[in-house]
Amino acid sequence: KTMLEVSGLGHRYGGEGHLAIADLTFQVRIGELACIVGPSGCGKSTLLRSISGLIKPTSGDIRLHGGAVQGVPTDLAVVFQDYSRSLFPWLSVRSNVEFPLRSRGLSKAGRRGRADEVLEWVGLSAAAKKYPWQLSGGMQQRVSIARALACRPALLLMDEPFASVDAQTRFELEDLLLRVRKQFDSTVLLVTHDIDESIYLADRVFVLSKSPANIVADLAIPLGDV
Ligand code: ADP
Ligand code: ADP
Repeated sequence: KTMLEVSGLGHRYGGEGHLAIADLTFQVRIGELACIVGPSGCGKSTLLRSISGLIKPTSGDIRLHGGAVQGVPTDLAVVFQDYSRSLFPWLSVRSNVEFPLRSRGLSKAGRRGRADEVLEWVGLSAAAKKYPWQLSGGMQQRVSIARALACRPALLLMDEPFASVDAQTRFELEDLLLRVRKQFDSTVLLVTHDIDESIYLADRVFVLSKSPANIVADLAIPLGDV
């Protein structure tokens, strides 16, 4: 069963502008952790913007759960590289995690329950009442991951999520992701320029070449490897 289906996707910025993606086709199955790897400028951000409905690609087709992507899909959550700008500094950790649940029609108690559950999973129960600026970078990124998971997204998009933390913290967060995605049975599409990271994390790796961007390899990582 397919979660995400990208077919013949192309995007050119500003009419006659730069061709960011030429002709991109790939699929992510339900429950898979897929990585997109490629050098800077190969169109990774453009791809994520297209999937999350922030830009309308100039050609091709994106289907999420079998439906065409129109506007910003609600069954999708995104974790960005820049954790320091993605959390609200004036809200506690718990309120940050609860925030996106407000627009999803949960009761106050329901939001609290969800937030506490995911905070426990990322090991941050004790920090629920703290503010983001009181936490290390790695802990802030844990909060971002918790916030994304609290929405129980059908698809979790992660844009270079571990590129801004030190190597030790990165390993911890990578292992955390592997644990929680099993727990939540999530489908994840993670974008990175780090080929080692993609092989360590992914069930499937798509290698993108630089402009014009195409999938040059589609590698299934054997289960139990690494
Ligand atoms: P990556 O995320 O892999 O670094 P991007 O999707 O950001 O790649 O960029 C792909 C290409 O599109 C690059 O050549 C970049 O300069 C160009 N590009 C990205 N964003 C814009 C934009 N808003 N306007 C014009 N060109 C852009
Ligand atoms: P160990 O306890 O022996 O370090 P782990 O169970 O932590 O083993 O398995 C992860 C191992 O894979 C680590 O030792 C780490 O050095 C290695 N590794 C290789 N590439 C990566 C990567 N990109 N991210 C995390 N670990 C990686």
